[in-house]
Amino acid sequence: MIEVKCPLCEADVEVPDVDGHYECPECKDVFEYEGLKPKSTRPLTNFIILFFVIWGSAMILGLLGFGEWGGTGGT
Ligand SMILES: [Zn+2]
Repeated sequence: MIEVKCPLCEADVEVPDVDGHYECPECKDVFEYEGLKPKSTRPLTNFIILFFVIWGSAMILGLLGFGEWGGTGGT
């Protein structure tokens, strides 16, 4: 069981920790309980992914750049 606030009258209502519709004992109205939502992806993870994407792109551009430089030194 978990305690939630009724969105209609803000009374504390105990519901099973399962998604569904429950009747509020205070206002006798039915409200929807969506359960515990999983935490959204951390910003840090997105930052690390972005870092590797930029780093990988820079490496590829750098390798292409070195390839061009190597071809211009001949006699
Ligand atoms: Zn209520």
